[in-house]
Amino acid sequence: MSFSLPVHLLRQHLFCPRVPWFQELLDFKPPQPAWVQQGVAFHTRQKAVFRHRTLKRFGLEQAEKTFHLPVHSERWGMHGIVDCVLETDAEAFAVEIKLAGGKPARGHLAQVTAYGLLLRDVLGKTSSTAFVVTGKTGKTWPVPLTDQRIEEVIRLRDEICRNLERARFPDSSAGEAQCTQCEYLNYCNDRT
Ligand code: SF4
Repeated sequence: MSFSLPVHLLRQHLFCPRVPWFQELLDFKPPQPAWVQQGVAFHTRQKAVFRHRTLKRFGLEQAEKTFHLPVHSERWGMHGIVDCVLETDAEAFAVEIKLAGGKPARGHLAQVTAYGLLLRDVLGKTSSTAFVVTGKTGKTWPVPLTDQRIEEVIRLRDEICRNLERARFPDSSAGEAQCTQCEYLNYCNDRT
């Protein structure tokens, strides 16, 4: 597979299959609404706080932390930048830092699973678990890289690639909750 898919599109595809189409095929980058910009600023602050936290909550006190590690795998046909990687001699753990509190959504689970797979290739280490860290308190959610999760990543990756190859505007079941917060609303003629 020569095309490489940005990992963040897995999450965006689950939000709405049209978003990867707008971003990758049409290269539409509308101005971000204010709430997105506020979210980015908060995310940056959260990452700064995370730098100074101990790794006790992960049970990995001796691990090395690397922030914003670029990863790319020909084998998986995906690339991206991992928020944080925790590395021991034998194993690497992808960490995704999420703005909102509460249980990680399916999109976040898919994204961090994909990063774990890419770490296996990039670092040549086992990666059996990833983590999502949520909200102001930094609650830590372990995400085992099960066969089921890996299969979902592959299925989503293939769905997105098929949509992009067909170059046909994808159908979407997105409802009001998604569309009213979507930066592409002005480009969807079948939504108001
Ligand atoms: S406006 Fe709605 S249908 Fe259009 S891309 Fe956004 S979420 Fe999808």
